[in-house]
Amino acid sequence: MCVAFSYERACHLHNNKCSYQSLNMEEENTVVVETEDVTVSVAPASPAPQEASSTQEEEEEEDRDEIFLSRAIEEAYKAVESGDGRPFGAVVVRNGEVVVSCHNMVLKHTDITAHAELIAIREACKKLDQINLSDCEIYASCEPCPMCFSAITLSRIKRLVYGANAEAAVAIGFNPFIGGTLKGADFHEKPQLEIKKVDGKGEEVFEKTKGKFQMS
Ligand SMILES: [Zn+2]
Repeated sequence: MCVAFSYERACHLHNNKCSYQSLNMEEENTVVVETEDVTVSVAPASPAPQEASSTQEEEEEEDRDEIFLSRAIEEAYKAVESGDGRPFGAVVVRNGEVVVSCHNMVLKHTDITAHAELIAIREACKKLDQINLSDCEIYASCEPCPMCFSAITLSRIKRLVYGANAEAAVAIGFNPFIGGTLKGADFHEKPQLEIKKVDGKGEEVFEKTKGKFQMS
């Protein structure tokens, strides 16, 4: 059973073959049919309307994810262009609307903890005047480091969508400590958090900004 993901959604950790999800799908595809002589038989359900609407919902979700993740990636470029910090961005979203959009500011604040996700969580809490962000999602240009992932967990954010794998950042010289956060065993102990990686423009941020910012 997949406990790390929302059960309605695909589980990338298990190559979208989460057993719980498969079980549900089987159940949904089976119907009980009453015949004229009142015997009851079981037959495959016709897929149609429910599957169609679920596909539409998935497509809408993908579109939203792409929009908000692009915003986080724009922030990553902005961090470097402005000289504020390193190429990482994060956006907190609630009910489909951006609450805050932030980027790494370790250089501007001379603060090694001024990561994009941490700033976004702080600012979102202030703006919403609450410390529980369970009705929010966070979009990060890169897989969060252990510090930021802890903050995401503590804030009870319900969904994390990220672009690049942290290994792409490590490959251009970032501390290897930031890699592999989502591969740890405790990851499976956070069923309230859905995590999704979106392939695309996340990794290229590092190649395009390499050499344009200060590493230490
Ligand atoms: Zn971080």
